[in-house]
Amino acid sequence: MPPPPHSRAHPQRARRAGGGRYSLWRLLREGVTGQRGWSHAWAKATPRPAYRVIVVGGGGHGLATAFYLATEFGIRDVAVLEKGPIGLGNVGRNTTIIRSNYFHPANIRFYDFSLRLWESLERRLNFNAMVSQRGTLNLFHTEAQRDLFTRRANQMLLLGVDAEALSREAVKRLVPLVDLDNGRYPVLGGFLQRRGGTVRHDAVAWGYARAASQAGVDIVEHCEVTGLRRCGARVIGVESTRGFIAADTVCLAVAGHSSRLAAMAGVQLPIETHVLQAFVSEAVKPLLDVVLTYGAGHFYVSQSDKGGLVFGGAIDGYNSYAQRGTLPMAEEVAASAVTLLPGLARLKVLRQWGGVMDMTMDGSPIISRLPVDGLILNGGWCYGGFKAIPAGGFTTAHLIAHGAPHPLAAHLDLGRFAAGRTVDERGAGPFPYLH
Ligand SMILES: Cc1cc2nc3c(=O)[nH]c(=O)nc-3n(C[C@H](O)[C@H](O)[C@H](O)COP(=O)(O)OP(=O)(O)OC[C@H]3O[C@@H](n4cnc5c(N)ncnc54)[C@H](O)[C@@H]3O)c2cc1C
Repeated sequence: MPPPPHSRAHPQRARRAGGGRYSLWRLLREGVTGQRGWSHAWAKATPRPAYRVIVVGGGGHGLATAFYLATEFGIRDVAVLEKGPIGLGNVGRNTTIIRSNYFHPANIRFYDFSLRLWESLERRLNFNAMVSQRGTLNLFHTEAQRDLFTRRANQMLLLGVDAEALSREAVKRLVPLVDLDNGRYPVLGGFLQRRGGTVRHDAVAWGYARAASQAGVDIVEHCEVTGLRRCGARVIGVESTRGFIAADTVCLAVAGHSSRLAAMAGVQLPIETHVLQAFVSEAVKPLLDVVLTYGAGHFYVSQSDKGGLVFGGAIDGYNSYAQRGTLPMAEEVAASAVTLLPGLARLKVLRQWGGVMDMTMDGSPIISRLPVDGLILNGGWCYGGFKAIPAGGFTTAHLIAHGAPHPLAAHLDLGRFAAGRTVDERGAGPFPYLH
């Protein structure tokens, strides 16, 4: 019997492994031998005519899905098709925050599974993703907000997830720059999740791509999917800028383009596309060693290892596929920033950018089979898809491999919208722009 296309015996498999293992020993060896031993981190694959699974979208979720399919579920006949170079979508545009401080028990379990995967990810991928568990601190500004956050923290503690209440004084000790008595919304205290933090976002895409490629996955860049071919009630492959490619299963992991891609198979999704922007300031000496979020508006800030303050706010309120934001939202974010941390007024903003977000009607993601056989969706990530990449990839791979949802992601099925089982974490109602 011939070896499967990507088994260890296959020559292509051997070529992929050329990148070798990254280690201190390797770094030293390359240092004294002229850095000539490095090769591409992942193989630039040419698409084959058919695969068992095609994942559309080389962002965090698409790459993680492919990696877990190959390494956890024994499915290596997989291609990731990305319309550009990998990692230039939202996975490389976000503010890099990871945490599992959610309200719904099912969400706490899902996001904490993700956080646990983050905690061991670098060893698993043999890639430095700069996972930094510096803590995420949510401030509260009213008694009602204190009650709500207390309830959330208690729910987390009941499920074995860390959460800590901080007094005003403890907040000030942790973040001396905060203006506790600011004129708009004085700070009453905060809730800290010490295991939360940040991860270098590009490295997540690169690390998953390299590890998936080494496990036998074809990473196909510059291959835009332009259509989904159906035979009756079943999807049988994709039309792409590099021709038709057949597949038993097609998984859409295209973030802000989810509704557009699903429409190619005649499926209408409860997802809207909005722009979310982020900002980075000039680099300064270390002054903020937690991720800080302002509870009276939508504002979050952390300091990158290069010294820049990375911050963001709410989505721009109207639908758009443009990867750039608008000035009114930039102004709102700046107002929140200087209210909370007046010292920021002295900093220059170096860069600003936007990403196209897949906002669902209830603010929670969808990991689900779609009403066309063989078609799977990983999407609807709203503000929170970066932190969910390990769990999203793992549970999507489980769904593809077993044909049934992973227990931790069963509440994220598409059927919840028809059945009225929405997962409205913020209690904002059926308005995507409010989640
Ligand atoms: C400014 C900003 C800040 C954010 N901050 C955070 C944060 O701090 N924490 C957090 O948890 N989340 C955050 N998010 C959300 C998070 O980044 C996203 O939810 C997550 O990255 C989406 O999943 P992805 O990585 O798979 O998406 P993407 O990286 O966008 O991947 C989708 C890929 O699909 C490709 N694609 C689209 N159409 C096609 C096609 N037809 N054919 C082939 N390929 C296609 C795209 O090119 C893209 O590479 C933020 C998002 C933005 C924009």
